[in-house]
Amino acid sequence: MLYEGKAKQIFETNNPNEVIVRFKDDATAFNAQKRGSVDLKGEMNNAITTLIFEYLSQKGIATHFIKQLDEREQLVKKVNIIPLEMVVRNYSAGSMAKRLGVEEGIKSPVTIFDLCLKNDELGDPLINDHHAVFLGVATYEELDEMYELTSDINDILIELFGRMNIILVDFKIELGKTADGKIILADEISPDTCRLWDKETMKKLDKDRFRRDLGEVTEAYVEIYERLKKVLGK
Ligand code: UDP
Repeated sequence: MLYEGKAKQIFETNNPNEVIVRFKDDATAFNAQKRGSVDLKGEMNNAITTLIFEYLSQKGIATHFIKQLDEREQLVKKVNIIPLEMVVRNYSAGSMAKRLGVEEGIKSPVTIFDLCLKNDELGDPLINDHHAVFLGVATYEELDEMYELTSDINDILIELFGRMNIILVDFKIELGKTADGKIILADEISPDTCRLWDKETMKKLDKDRFRRDLGEVTEAYVEIYERLKKVLGK
């Protein structure tokens, strides 16, 4: 094992350019102050991330994904994760709603991009482009490229989730650099990293069910997987 995070483990393989990601059922929230476990979460996030990364790749997005290995594991290209969380918001929710003192669920007339520094000790603080350049984690040119990639991913995901009768409220992605310096999509895209609301009932079908003790957490992840399979004809 190379690395263990809150929801995933990373293992080395015989190929120095490839690693295995193993999805755990462990769940944490509020900077790991709340801890628990969600049945089937690892399997669902592995399956959902697989389908979404394959779909994005068909649409021309470069990702680290190579193939699914089994229920919990996938083989991916080894990258150096850029220590920035790229957060995209189409509607107000979560920390932004709190910070701005607005209610959740207001559709934004513009796509909102937030940058957070990946640093557990500091609680992943919200930063801006200048801070990122100051810290040396990206150049302005790289940030331009990262926002463009993130925006393209948002467009594709809004359309995909729309067909599933789901509103993509917000999400977080992580980007990585390959050995030859290319910036590609890494990590995961799942109900752990997106806010997903049913278009008709506005029911939350994502990790907020765990964060806010809303119940039916496993059911929400399974529901997203089933709808995704249906629209992709899998
Ligand atoms: N998010 C994430 N990991 C984090 C923080 C946020 O995947 O460490 C996702 C979260 O699920 C949501 C979006 O990023 O879809 C925006 O989250 P927000 O900043 O509102 O923070 P939260 O309210 O989740 O603390």
